[in-house]
Amino acid sequence: MAALLEVRDLTIEFTTKAGIVHAVEGASFDVERGEALGLAGESGCGKTTTALALMRLLPYNGRIVRGSISFAGRSLVPLEEASMRAIRWKEMSIVFQGAMNSLNPVQRVGRQIAEPIILHEDADSDVALKRAGDLLELVGISRNRLNDYPHEFSGGMRQRVMIAMALACDPKLVIADEPVTALDVMIQAQILDLLERLRRELDLAMILISHDLSVLADTCEQVTIMYAGKTMESGKTMDLFTDPKHPYTQGLVGAFPDIRGPRNMPEAIPGDVPSLISPPSGCVFHPRCKFAFDRCSNAEPELSELAPGRRAACFLYPEVTEVPGRSMPIATR
Ligand code: SF4
Repeated sequence: MAALLEVRDLTIEFTTKAGIVHAVEGASFDVERGEALGLAGESGCGKTTTALALMRLLPYNGRIVRGSISFAGRSLVPLEEASMRAIRWKEMSIVFQGAMNSLNPVQRVGRQIAEPIILHEDADSDVALKRAGDLLELVGISRNRLNDYPHEFSGGMRQRVMIAMALACDPKLVIADEPVTALDVMIQAQILDLLERLRRELDLAMILISHDLSVLADTCEQVTIMYAGKTMESGKTMDLFTDPKHPYTQGLVGAFPDIRGPRNMPEAIPGDVPSLISPPSGCVFHPRCKFAFDRCSNAEPELSELAPGRRAACFLYPEVTEVPGRSMPIATR
């Protein structure tokens, strides 16, 4: 059976005064029904742009130049806006980055949750408000708070309200863009537990976007690592975390402290994410890669299958296991 969401060769550009921004190039991934996929990478790697493209909410200067998005058997890229409106929020919804701060401060939260139900399901106000109460309880807030204003909620509770809004029309897929950034660690854990519980109870598919790998570790079955708009590695979450193959994934994993293993200091990846207007030649990661060799700056590695369900875009795999003049890359350990 086809996956709920199938993204193939998705390529997105923005036209700016400074030039064409190659925001996403060749993104391909699947999300099965009820499955959670993590999109990880540093800021500016194309994760949010990918999410906006899935919702067909790219800003005016952005466009999908190549590739396909198939959702529940329908091809989304060629859809007219009117047809897309019937899918957005009803079948696929998103919790935007920083959304908990974008609630309308002068409107009661119950009304804000009810609005998409009234708009997309043509429900009357009483029915929508009753459902808003059910949704509040689903995310762990008493329905007695329906008439409260956003400033009466903590940051974590406002994020729960945003999740309730994303669930308002009973979608099959929810995209959560940095859902716990800016929350303290205890609240982060509670929100991640909530997302995990909702996924199980509602059989929801999810795409979780985060620059923080630890956020994805316990929540997602699959992870795709993006860098400079390209997919560097993808596979089962535990495989990627315990045995990262791509040097960029190794850098991301090494940048986080492991409280269970030996006491190694976290190590930052040297350098910065490159300009997406004039990305580096060859492998986009080569200016920051400690394993780079001549070929890396001249040719671009393809995303190749290393094992069933495991792919990486790096010349170290699968054809080269030893780099002349260098120690064995840790990726082959
Ligand atoms: Fe590093 Fe070369 Fe692999 Fe790119 S292709 S990640 S530069 S070793």
